[in-house]
Amino acid sequence: MKTEICFELNKLEQKAQKRQLCRAEASGASVILNGKPMLNLASNNYLGLADDQRLIEAGCEAMQRYGAGAGASRLVVGNHPLYERAEAALKQWKQAEAALIFNSGYTANIGVLTALIRRDDLVFSDEWNHASLIDGIRLSKAACFRYRHNDVDQLEALLRQSPPGKRKWIVTDAVFSMDGDLAPLSELVELKRRYRAMLVVDEAHSGGVFGPNGEGLLCHFGLEKEENVIAIGTFSKALGSFGAYVTGEPWLIDYLINSARSFIFTTALPPAVLAANEAAIHIVQSEPERRGRLHALSERFRTKLTQLGFGTGGSETPIVPVIVGPNDQAVAMSELLQEADIAAIAIRPPTVPEGTARIRFSVTAAMTAEDVDMAVDRIAWAGRQIGLIS
Ligand code: PMP
Repeated sequence: MKTEICFELNKLEQKAQKRQLCRAEASGASVILNGKPMLNLASNNYLGLADDQRLIEAGCEAMQRYGAGAGASRLVVGNHPLYERAEAALKQWKQAEAALIFNSGYTANIGVLTALIRRDDLVFSDEWNHASLIDGIRLSKAACFRYRHNDVDQLEALLRQSPPGKRKWIVTDAVFSMDGDLAPLSELVELKRRYRAMLVVDEAHSGGVFGPNGEGLLCHFGLEKEENVIAIGTFSKALGSFGAYVTGEPWLIDYLINSARSFIFTTALPPAVLAANEAAIHIVQSEPERRGRLHALSERFRTKLTQLGFGTGGSETPIVPVIVGPNDQAVAMSELLQEADIAAIAIRPPTVPEGTARIRFSVTAAMTAEDVDMAVDRIAWAGRQIGLIS
């Protein structure tokens, strides 16, 4: 077995697809990467809350009072009162009757999809959906039809051809994590109504970022009250902490508690994480200026890169890809950027389609306009070095 595995690893190395861990210590707009301080353009800490003093203090206090770990799953003796507080805050924020916290976005997606989708249902999934949605669909064992990215016409054709009487699910990211573009949620809701389907929306990169109070992209489009829509959000990105949540009607939450295996068979979150989550929910609503700043900086970054001749796909968010193409070129660009003190990571297949290796930049509210301008100058330099722009 060892020989086969080493052979596989060698093949990955030859295709410039072998991944390696590097030591990273992030704070504010910076990260120390393998011992070198850099501007952090690789983080999902969109609102800059990950090292906010209020989250830190809430977490420290909870750890002091209640210890480091929960010691049991929620259905056993791990359901600390801090869950009740954080879920009450979620209900108020999302104007929902019920809320449930999961241990991560990955396990929430797997848990929700496997609990709700039956083996003989039909699933329609955007081809660029996140791996956790893909894995959840696979685990459900339902037949899955992948539609071209954001192609509502193809989705409609697939729905039209599908046998009546089957339960149907449309599954999509709200903001696509490697491209930073938006799902056409209004059109997807329309199709969901027309074909009596359910719609599952992963708000991982839109929670905290879109919506008047950061509720997410559904709320941004005024679709938050729509029936038969299930939204999953995370604490791990804009909210600066860890974990995930689902909000909805009590029957849904009750059912998830009783059937989502990734909820049932895992230890509850540590008290410190729950306290930080609650603090983040309050800040995300009370400090909309963070969102304003984030969108202004992202717009500045995108506009300048486009003017320089970089292709940034259809990004409308703080996630801004610079499409490079070949894997080795993307790796070379990311190395040049790191030499220039810019932390930005090359994303290669299979995470993105073959031939579309890229640098995935992400802007955060912890940056200044000067940081953004400096980053653009250095990206231009690296882009010229590899011949991506002239
Ligand atoms: N959904 C999407 C779209 C994501 O990008 C991610 C994480 N990168 C997840 C879900 C998983 O969330 P978490 O990191 O909280 O497990």
